[in-house]
Amino acid sequence: MTEVTERFTPPTRFAVPGRIAVGEQAAAVWQPATITEVRRETPLAATFRLAVPGWVGHLPGQHLMLRLTAADGYVAQRHYSIASAPDDSGHIELTLDHVEGGEVSGWFHTVARPGDTVEVRGPVSGFFAWPGDRPALLVGAGSGVVPLMSMVRHHRARGLDVPLRLLVSARGPEELIYAREYGAETTPVFTRRAPQGVPVGRMAAAHVAPLLAEQPPGGWEAYVCGSNGFAEHASRLLVAAGQPVDRIRIERFG
Ligand SMILES: Cc1cc2nc3c(=O)[nH]c(=O)nc-3n(C[C@H](O)[C@H](O)[C@H](O)COP(=O)(O)OP(=O)(O)OC[C@H]3O[C@@H](n4cnc5c(N)ncnc54)[C@H](O)[C@@H]3O)c2cc1C
Repeated sequence: MTEVTERFTPPTRFAVPGRIAVGEQAAAVWQPATITEVRRETPLAATFRLAVPGWVGHLPGQHLMLRLTAADGYVAQRHYSIASAPDDSGHIELTLDHVEGGEVSGWFHTVARPGDTVEVRGPVSGFFAWPGDRPALLVGAGSGVVPLMSMVRHHRARGLDVPLRLLVSARGPEELIYAREYGAETTPVFTRRAPQGVPVGRMAAAHVAPLLAEQPPGGWEAYVCGSNGFAEHASRLLVAAGQPVDRIRIERFG
């Protein structure tokens, strides 16, 4: 799959058709972000709502840089997708998996409390952004659903009628992030445990084919997000089902 994914690495910032321009200034400036709320999503994932008074806004699918600075000056910096839809609340939401032994996710899950302040920079990267103007076929696994959920929320909040479908993979129902929020646009796939009557297994051609059979006017723009392995598997399925390679955007968390 490297031959597929490598096509999506833009050689220069604005060389890829459909790439969204990123505000250079917002992407360059660190600003304080204060945790205002923590919501548990699954046993391993939680959503952190942050007040960011200087936030310039984002498009669904974009991510930010986040940094923690320890009292001795040690700095840890990571990328996180923005889970919330764009709005003018002065807040954004991130959803973090608790990675075992993870420096930054460990701090969020075991130390962070409302009132704590971190620093963010962004939004960065317009490649995975969805402006809401084209039919969107979203395929994610685990916390890879986070930027896709921003798109689903945007679609709902704006009452958009452009077609949008979400195919999301999780190990079991209890690990399905945002489970309560999904509607008719979503098909969950369970790889280890499933509710009675629902098959267990890896995402397969049978999940992708009915979505591609729909073919809305102008065709689908596919957005794939998850681990390296998942991104390769899912984009192979899409290509095999007829999705054009140059209309698959991939974000890898690995
Ligand atoms: C564009 C982008 C967007 C991202 N968005 C999100 C998001 O919305 N939510 C989210 O939870 N994460 C997201 N990530 C992953 C995130 O940046 C961190 O890698 C993750 O939180 C782990 O950081 P850490 O400091 O906790 O672990 P580290 O201290 O960096 O790593 C600890 C150990 O865990 C391993 N490890 C690191 N990352 C992972 C992982 N993702 N899965 C399994 N093992 C891992 C490392 O190899 C190491 O052994 C995103 C990554 C990218 C590149």
